[in-house]
Amino acid sequence: MKEIVDTSICEWDQASFLFFSDNIWGDFIYYSHLLPSLSALIVTVFIFINAPKNKAAQALLFTGLSFTTWSLMDLILWSSEKMDLIMFFWSSLIYFELFVYIGSLYFIYAYVSDKFPSFKAEVVIFLSFIPLFIFGHTSLNLLGFDFTNCWREAIEGPLWQYYIYYVEIGIAAWILTFAIHQFRLPKNKAKKTEILIVALGTLLFLSLFSLGNIIGSIESDWEIGQIGLFGMPILLAFIGYSIVRFESFKLKVLAAEALFTASFILLVSLLFIRTIENARYIAIGTLFLFSILGFLLVRNIKQEVKQREQIEHLAEKLEKANVRLKQVDKLKSEFVSIASHQLRSPITAISGYASLLREGSYGELTNKMKEPIERIEQSARMMATSIEDYLNVSRIESGNMKYNYSEFSLADEAEHICDDLRSEALKRGLVLLFRKRVDSQGMVNADQGKVQQIIHNLINNSIKYTPKGVITVYIHDEVKNKKIFIDILDTGIGMGSDTLGSIFQKFERGDKANTVNVKGTGLGLFVALKMAEAMKGTITAHSEGEGKGSRFTIELPLAG
Ligand code: ADP
Repeated sequence: MKEIVDTSICEWDQASFLFFSDNIWGDFIYYSHLLPSLSALIVTVFIFINAPKNKAAQALLFTGLSFTTWSLMDLILWSSEKMDLIMFFWSSLIYFELFVYIGSLYFIYAYVSDKFPSFKAEVVIFLSFIPLFIFGHTSLNLLGFDFTNCWREAIEGPLWQYYIYYVEIGIAAWILTFAIHQFRLPKNKAKKTEILIVALGTLLFLSLFSLGNIIGSIESDWEIGQIGLFGMPILLAFIGYSIVRFESFKLKVLAAEALFTASFILLVSLLFIRTIENARYIAIGTLFLFSILGFLLVRNIKQEVKQREQIEHLAEKLEKANVRLKQVDKLKSEFVSIASHQLRSPITAISGYASLLREGSYGELTNKMKEPIERIEQSARMMATSIEDYLNVSRIESGNMKYNYSEFSLADEAEHICDDLRSEALKRGLVLLFRKRVDSQGMVNADQGKVQQIIHNLINNSIKYTPKGVITVYIHDEVKNKKIFIDILDTGIGMGSDTLGSIFQKFERGDKANTVNVKGTGLGLFVALKMAEAMKGTITAHSEGEGKGSRFTIELPLAG
């Protein structure tokens, strides 16, 4: 039977501001409570500010806040002389102890998988709280006040002795199983070290936090319990390391902000220190924080400066390479232009004479001669078209393409071109139809030659890429939008979506193009689109797929 102490003989100091009293023997208690909780608060708040949407940062903030609240409440138990106050905070401590655990669990989940625990898991967590809600303020939590000594202690009930520690062990085991499971998943191969470090840090923190308390509780030696609080800096050190190593959060900003705030708070706190001894502890704490954060910051800034120098150096090189490239490009355009001009006259001569020969201007041709002459004429015409394409590309790229604007009827133009090309289509067994439905006069203000070239080119393509069937040229307008369209529809080889996406680029030819028609440079549509765009129009292509025909649409603004 323990002797009941007459509490009136206990000399208890009255706590000022809840925290400050001589009841706290030794500054160690202040140091063990304030430094870890302050550093936890600073780091978790800044991580959160820098990444408020990051789930891991949210969970970490929750853990940090719970831990700080726990530490401050615990400090009150040490400093206060009021029994009711001690009882209240002691019985509330149990909640925050669990919060620290749950926050750590959420943190691990979010850090590793960017998700919080599942709904089922949350139900389990909630259920584990129920005994607390029901018995938190009954004698199952705290039996009463211990009057057998002058230590101002509450006597812990079964909720503390059994329940809370089992729940804590359960959550720690949960964290461990989760981390092992994630560690083993093939998709986390690259993150293995990261998972290991963060899981280890969290578990170490939790075991120190609880071990201290368990020992304190069993041995009634609360001094030992203080070890646990230093677990928080351990967790922070681990997180800090993983932050730097894996750049999980924006470290530099974080370090600078934390360094500033920590130094501010710590320096201000010096003003309230009563003894030199305490000031020394605060100074040690400050030094500790400064060294870590300062080191990280300086290292980071050095890296940044180095990177910037590298980037500047690269940018310089790039600029030089760019100038050189432009020169080469200009030379290339000039070369293509000169070469094409010089090729053009002989080719025109070849094609002209071949045509005269075929028509019999130089005497009757024998049957044997007819085919080769026709071949010469065809090849020369093809070559002339290719040369024209190359010339157009070089004009477009050097910005030398000239446009002579005039007003003309697009409908008439399209109809004439259809009439011209009908016989060519017929030769290949194709029907070429012309349809018109315009509400306006169908006038456009554009370069007539270029527009002819575009329409010609697209109808020619349809002839080239349609083995059999019909080609329909349909002209229609939208007066309201001041636009006029020419659709060129065919029943030809069509295009898959890959081909559709690239045909307007230079030298791009569809996969099937060669099998149907080997003649082609892959420049026609590039040139046509550039010209249409220069005249404030556009060209679009559509196809349901290979073998399903194509539809090309030329769009131009209506005149006026
Ligand atoms: P070229 O016809 O000389 O290859 P273009 O630039 O005129 O060059 O056309 C690019 C590619 O677009 C062609 O190679 C072909 O694959 C595809 N193409 C153009 N018109 C049609 C069409 N009417 N039907 C199917 N494919 C077409």
